[in-house]
Amino acid sequence: MDAGEPRSLLTVFARILAGELPASFVWQDDRCAAFLDINPVSRGHALVIPKRSVQHLSELTTEELAHLWQVAREIGSAQQAGLGSLGQHFLVNDGRAASQSVPHVHIHVIPRYRGDWVKT
Ligand code: IMP
Repeated sequence: MDAGEPRSLLTVFARILAGELPASFVWQDDRCAAFLDINPVSRGHALVIPKRSVQHLSELTTEELAHLWQVAREIGSAQQAGLGSLGQHFLVNDGRAASQSVPHVHIHVIPRYRGDWVKT
C-alpha cells in the first residue's frame, strides 16, 4: 500500500491488510498474507496476496512471485492435512479482461474434496 494513498482508492484487500476490514487469516509474513474467501467455492477456499498492493502478476518481482506461489503451495498442503481435501485448484484472474474483480494480486487456493469435482 502506498503511504498517503486516499482511503477511497484502497482495494478491499489493502483495507484488510491495514486491519480496517475483518478477515480470517491463515497466513501472515513480511511479504504476503492469506485469508479465507468471503464467498468460498469450497470449504477452506483461501486467497494468497502480496502485501505490496499491485494488480498484475507482471508487477511483482521474481522473488515476490516465487514467495507467493510457495505460500500458496504450503496452504494447499495445509488444507489437505487439516481439512482432508485431496487436491486443489490454484487460480489467478490476472486483469479485468480475465474477470479480476479485486485489483490486487491474489491466488485462489480452492480445496477439492472427494467427488466434488471429478470422480475420486
Ligand atoms: P477475483 O474475481 O479473482 O478478483 O476474486 C476476488 C475474490 O475476492 C472473490 O472470490 C471474492 O469472494 C473475494 N472477496 C471479495 N471481498 C472479500 C473480503 O472482504 N474478504 C474475503 N474475500 C473477499
